[in-house]
Amino acid sequence: MGIIEGAKKKAAEFFSNSQTARNLVLNQVVKYLEKDPEKNAVKIFELLKKGVDDPESRDRVDKVVKYYNEMPAVREYINKVLTNTNSNCLKKFFTNFFGNATWYGIPRREQMMLDHDAKIPFIMLISPAMRCNLKCTGCYAMNYDPNDDMPKEEVFRIVKEAKEMGIYIFTILGGEPFFTDYLIELFRENQDAYFITFTNGTLFTEEVASEISKLGNCMPIFSLEGFEAETDHRRGTGVFQSVMDGMDMLRSRGVPFGVSAATGNHNVDTVGSEEFVDMVMDKGALMIWYFAFMPIGDNQKGTIDMMLTPEQRIQIGRRAREIRSTKSIYTLDFFNDAPFVGGCIAGKFYCHINAKGDLEPCIFCHFATENVLNRPLIDCFKNNELFKSIRKRQPYNDNLLKPCMMVDNPQMIRDIVAESGAYSTDETSAMQINDPEFMEKIDKHAAAFTPFAEAAFEKDFKGTGNYRLSNFEKDNAKNVGKENTEESTEKKEQGHACGHCGGCGGHGHS
Ligand code: SF4
Repeated sequence: MGIIEGAKKKAAEFFSNSQTARNLVLNQVVKYLEKDPEKNAVKIFELLKKGVDDPESRDRVDKVVKYYNEMPAVREYINKVLTNTNSNCLKKFFTNFFGNATWYGIPRREQMMLDHDAKIPFIMLISPAMRCNLKCTGCYAMNYDPNDDMPKEEVFRIVKEAKEMGIYIFTILGGEPFFTDYLIELFRENQDAYFITFTNGTLFTEEVASEISKLGNCMPIFSLEGFEAETDHRRGTGVFQSVMDGMDMLRSRGVPFGVSAATGNHNVDTVGSEEFVDMVMDKGALMIWYFAFMPIGDNQKGTIDMMLTPEQRIQIGRRAREIRSTKSIYTLDFFNDAPFVGGCIAGKFYCHINAKGDLEPCIFCHFATENVLNRPLIDCFKNNELFKSIRKRQPYNDNLLKPCMMVDNPQMIRDIVAESGAYSTDETSAMQINDPEFMEKIDKHAAAFTPFAEAAFEKDFKGTGNYRLSNFEKDNAKNVGKENTEESTEKKEQGHACGHCGGCGGHGHS
């Protein structure tokens, strides 16, 4: 039997034999969650470990237990999540995230690789529409009308086919996701999936909050620029208060939610400040997601000037790690946590479908070779030349603090687009590959960051990271059922267990 046939057989056995045992485990977890989740926290983790086969996932659960036992902030955080979240939302999270996306999903996605030579991501981002009820300064969403929306039937079909491929975690963006009138219906019809929505928070009503609470499979993430002054300055008067009200509505119902902070050189000090973090914690948010400003959209050259300076970029990463190890809130940093997941995850562990149906490798990378509308979804992953071209280059360099093909290694995006023949999915992204002024500017930006990244990678990460997750192409068929355990791994992951649980729309693992 050849390697591929052997791996296929192993995957099939793994897939069928383990389901019953996993269902038993999951039922017991659900019982603990219903009874006294805080008291049963360690038992829950032990059970979750039984449900995973690969050493990396088991190791990750072990680390969570270790941190839970040894770090007061982690213990407090986990207890807070288990105590404050209503049991319906907790059950949906554990069932959909562990049961469906992980235990069921990993072998399913690996089977798709074997059957179709298609790398299926862990998480799929979908922007069903680019419309929004706000008109924020500089935002592109105001240029769209209903005719630009993806047809509702296509959104439902994509989610259905994605689940058949083993994807159960979806991030819904836009535009404003709650501006589409079928969002709650989408959650209701896909109770086995988990949805994370990035929202401006202005459309939350008691009715919407109650529906989300009842369904339990949605975690809203509210966008904030900082406090009231910063948020309302960009988004409009009253927006900050709407977000606060939305948070209150969710908190009172025990629905988990988080905050996303687009971080540029103008607001990095604010969103990283003690006061901001405490304010967000007091409101009941469970996480803060720091997204460094990227040069995309209508004013790409101008946005380069809004990006974090090299010092600021390193500093917010350190700050995010400090917050999550000392406070009972989880923080993620889109770029600075990349060493934990092997660098760039575009086209590998996550992807984005825009409102026109273009299948993009990353929310910020507006290029595609495939459009999913009116086509079987699996066909768009099979032989996806753009994704293949990206994956074979990942990581783009050994320094995982420079993970990005667009801002840290800009020659990469030029080579990738040239090799794959990808088309530009918006009017301005082609600038990255053919506008000399933009290219010179971003090259300088990348060069300026390099010495800072080198020093910080050495100092903060001892010059290493989770390279096992860096390049899927090298170890696909051999690792069925034991994903990312390639023995040839030269460098070992350094400790970080729960940072990238895949609920993440940015850097998440498989
Ligand atoms: S590092 Fe990869 S996933 Fe992150 S923004 Fe850059 S291309 Fe996208």
